Amino acid sequence: MYDAIVVGARCAGSPTAMLLARKGYRVLLVDRATFPSDTMSTHALRAQGTKKLKDWGLLDRVANSGCPPIRQAHFDIGVAQMTVPMPPFEDIDATYCPRRTVLDKILVDAAVEAGAELREAFTFDDLTWKDGRATGIVGHARGGEKVTEEARIVIGADGLHSQVAKAAGAPIVKQADHATCGYYGYFSGVPCEGFEFYFREGCYILVFPTHDGQVCIAMERPQGEFKAFREDVEGNFMRTLELAPGLHARMANAKREEKLIGIGELPNQFRQTFGPGWALIGDASYHRDAILGSGITDAWYEADYLAEAVDAGLSGAQPMEAALARYEQRRDEFVAGTWAATLKLVQFPPPQEAIGIWTGGG
Ligand SMILES: Cc1cc2nc3c(=O)[nH]c(=O)nc-3n(C[C@H](O)[C@H](O)[C@H](O)COP(=O)(O)OP(=O)(O)OC[C@H]3O[C@@H](n4cnc5c(N)ncnc54)[C@H](O)[C@@H]3O)c2cc1C
Repeated sequence: MYDAIVVGARCAGSPTAMLLARKGYRVLLVDRATFPSDTMSTHALRAQGTKKLKDWGLLDRVANSGCPPIRQAHFDIGVAQMTVPMPPFEDIDATYCPRRTVLDKILVDAAVEAGAELREAFTFDDLTWKDGRATGIVGHARGGEKVTEEARIVIGADGLHSQVAKAAGAPIVKQADHATCGYYGYFSGVPCEGFEFYFREGCYILVFPTHDGQVCIAMERPQGEFKAFREDVEGNFMRTLELAPGLHARMANAKREEKLIGIGELPNQFRQTFGPGWALIGDASYHRDAILGSGITDAWYEADYLAEAVDAGLSGAQPMEAALARYEQRRDEFVAGTWAATLKLVQFPPPQEAIGIWTGGG
């Protein structure tokens, strides 16, 4: 019997497992992936997220991974541009954009070092139940038989299409009408000093310096354009970059290092977050558009809130349901500003409005 089983070992799951293990709980952390591995996501960290890494003792690992520190942001609305230092957040004056291959491995390793038991290449199939309460999981190793594991709480950190949410019957309780689609890719040979944000009519272009002297270039457009964009991904990507002439000119000697990645689904939604014997965290619980780059930071704050709640429930300091309700409330308070800003940005307001919303919610 584990105290907690965490399904999903990336930005939401590994820190949750780490924090619970650091509190002395017996934790099983499972993921159908193995690490290091990539996932569909760009990876700009907000300063608040970087601060969380520092609090957990993990910032040095990211800073020493060859990922350049980012100390400035360039904003461009076509008719006007400005470059500003990143506003410091407490004692953090630089942030990072680490590849998920690197970041997620650091997080998984930290969970294991804290004492969590890791099962990679292990797929969650279903929850087990007794008297209406989740009591554990059924899953299988790659090519293996189904096994059952019991726990006092099962935490679904298994992303947007959460199987734990499905097994728990957790409905979507709030969602927005508008949505975007996006493409991103990695390029070398693009001189770049920091984050760059280009706000255009019906289009955002974002540039993030990352490992190996490469930049990640991402773009978002209204979701309805996804099908047409896919018909000529390379051509449409490069033509979109012409909307940012300064950036486009700096790409004269650029080399695309990996294939362009597209995503036609960036929903804005909240699911029911907890129930008897189970809880959700990260994208499994709350998914928002990527435009503000807040998902990773959100997941890390949620991990702190959830680990405190589960500790309160498991230790008997508070009834579990009340503790999990408090977790949800703290999460909702933390994301309120970025959720509101995201809902405005996904409607592609005029560039001069978009930049105000972005910086106000950022
Ligand atoms: C295009 C794009 C760009 C983004 N850019 C940024 C950004 O710049 N900055 C930022 O902060 N956020 C960004 N985000 C958001 C960020 O990627 C997510 O918020 C974050 O990855 C959520 O982490 P998670 O751990 O909840 O889920 P995930 O990262 O999706 O991890 C879920 C894990 O669960 C595992 N899993 C799923 N099902 C099962 C199962 N049945 N059994 C076992 N394991 C399972 C998966 O293998 C996976 O490892 C972006 C997202 C997208 C799509």
